[in-house]
Amino acid sequence: MNTEKFNVADIFGENVFNDTVMQERLPKKVYKNLKNTIQEGKELDLETADVIAHEMKEWAIEKGATHYTHWFLPLTGVTAEKHDSFISAPLPSGKILMSFSGKELIKGEPDASSFPSGGLRATFEARGYTAWDCTSPAFVRQDAAGATLCIPTAFCSYTGEALDQKTPLLRSMEAINGQALRLLRLFGNTTSKKVTPSVGAEQEYFLVNAKKFLQRKDLIYTGRTLFGAMPPKGQELDDHYFGTIRQRIASFMRDVNIELWKVGVSSKTQHNEVAPAQHELAPIYTEANIAVDHNQIVMQTLKRVASQHGMKCLLHEKPFAGVNGSGKHNNWSIITDDGINMLDPGKTPHENIQFLLILTCILKAVNRHADLLRESAADPGNDHRLGANEAPPAIISVFLGEQLEDVIDQLISTGEATHSIKGERLETGVRTLPELVKDATDRNRTSPFAFTGNKFEFRMVGSRDSIASSNIVLNTIVAEAFSEACDELEQAEDFQLAVHDLIKKYATENQRIIFNGDGYSEAWVEEAEKRGLHNIRSMVEAIPAMVSDKAVALFEKFGVFTKAELESRAEIQYESYAKAINIEARTMIDMARKQFIPAVMKYTKELADTVNAVTAAGADASVQLDCLKEVSELLKETREALRGLENVVREAGEKEEGPEEAKFFYYTVVPAMENLRTPVDKLEMIVDKEAWPMPSYGDLLFEV
Ligand code: ADP
Ligand code: MG
Repeated sequence: MNTEKFNVADIFGENVFNDTVMQERLPKKVYKNLKNTIQEGKELDLETADVIAHEMKEWAIEKGATHYTHWFLPLTGVTAEKHDSFISAPLPSGKILMSFSGKELIKGEPDASSFPSGGLRATFEARGYTAWDCTSPAFVRQDAAGATLCIPTAFCSYTGEALDQKTPLLRSMEAINGQALRLLRLFGNTTSKKVTPSVGAEQEYFLVNAKKFLQRKDLIYTGRTLFGAMPPKGQELDDHYFGTIRQRIASFMRDVNIELWKVGVSSKTQHNEVAPAQHELAPIYTEANIAVDHNQIVMQTLKRVASQHGMKCLLHEKPFAGVNGSGKHNNWSIITDDGINMLDPGKTPHENIQFLLILTCILKAVNRHADLLRESAADPGNDHRLGANEAPPAIISVFLGEQLEDVIDQLISTGEATHSIKGERLETGVRTLPELVKDATDRNRTSPFAFTGNKFEFRMVGSRDSIASSNIVLNTIVAEAFSEACDELEQAEDFQLAVHDLIKKYATENQRIIFNGDGYSEAWVEEAEKRGLHNIRSMVEAIPAMVSDKAVALFEKFGVFTKAELESRAEIQYESYAKAINIEARTMIDMARKQFIPAVMKYTKELADTVNAVTAAGADASVQLDCLKEVSELLKETREALRGLENVVREAGEKEEGPEEAKFFYYTVVPAMENLRTPVDKLEMIVDKEAWPMPSYGDLLFEV
């Protein structure tokens, strides 16, 4: 255990090429050029890049780095890296130099053929390139492979199509920046220069014992258990039960924090979650693109440190059936460069009216594009959570809290909000709205999109997924709503009146998306259907939203995605779904054939021997015989279900990649997988534990 004393302030960011380091090491002019690029998006000239690259290399080498990598987020969702060492060709003397040029810093050429492009590369250029995103700082990562300089980059095709998540994310940030500034100007703000979406992602995960993990092929190949009966006790176990586990976890968390702080991730909150062996980590919010990168670093770090502690970190959305799954809460707000949070209700009526317009714009955006938001959280693992009686439901709705909902109600019915639910009387008109206080009383946990005081919390994202897609969608749909509001307000003769009318109009037209009740109830499902809200239960049903005319118009208007990019992404989504289920199904077949069936056959022989022995001894063997019959019956069922699954997997293999194949996996293969799981789980409950070929749920969840 690492008990070394340290000061957080000393280690925080020590492996980051951050502003302080740059200011110290770069010539003044170069530093200024780079700052301009970071703050105003100006292009970086090669001369400047050369100087930065040199200093970055020197700094990284001092930290022990031998290699650098253009670190990027391809559409597989798992960060990709290709490592190059700093060494140059040997000199005539036989020595080598360590070199790193500006060109190598700002542009790389990974072997792109192994990353999905959804047909984009085929139709355009064969190769892609990575480009340094200087708005997300480079850092040195230390792990078993030594120290590596990681350079956050975007990944594009030669003709500029985005092959990654960062490129559209940066585009969407520009979109919302432009439209939010437009809105602020209308309200008389002349000082803010930039508006940035800020994001804090709360990450849930499970920890299991590494030795037990390695005894389960399902965990190894798919990240989740494909079989497994519930332990006699589930989530209701007492806290003290985990006393000994606590120490191990605490020591793990300490090391995770140290690793994260070193690379500048402000890991802040950690706690145990509802399920046994489940935990959560939340950093302090930061700019969206940095938050996306940081979340990737968090996931990698959790995995790496877990291994060092003899554990495995499960990031899958549903590692255990019947036990709470894992997600990510994406906290989102929009903040100006001079520190104004546009989602802060504010203290003066003037701020209130701006806030109410922003709020109703967001209602409009979410109501109009609920299908896109839902899609942004779709991944194969999340199918087990969304719409499956687990947090949150698949229906998108917005939670505002009692006070805000009341204000909206008044606006809709009378056009004015004349009183506040907190009691104080108001003067007339929307111009003098009450001071809206942070609603601390009602913290609705079932809402997928909740206003929590000065930010929105999108709670649908899967634990294993990147938060990039969700933020791309959020930024763009809100940019669109702002832009439409500005279009109207810029024409208005009486600005105050026009704002008032718009707030009322948006509130009225989008009221159906507001829901403050219990999102898990059956009544809500019915009510939502009456309101005409989407209830998209699966990934394959969610994907088409990406390529609808509405989506294409939205993303093209703000230059976030072209139609071709959207189509390629939809294609990749279908492919990745089919691939994920195919691996799961094949793993199940393998486990059933090679592990469960042989183990149960052996066990039936033991039972048969017992029946014979007991009978020979002249005693009543009816109980043993019953048991044998029951096991044999389930064994037969298992075998039949196995055949069924094998058949449909074979059939799936003959299909061409695309929507039809993905649908076949969802509608036909997934049910066949469930058919196989059912008898095996029943067998696990009655077969002698000694005879069962792998650790049980109880072993995994309660003995980390
Ligand atoms: P809660 O308990 O409501 O989930 P916390 O205050 O613990 O909220 O914050 C959860 C996450 O939200 C943290 O990552 C935090 O940094 C982030 N967060 C807080 N304020 C904002 C904001 N204005 N914008 C974006 N994220 C925020
Ligand atoms: Mg939260």
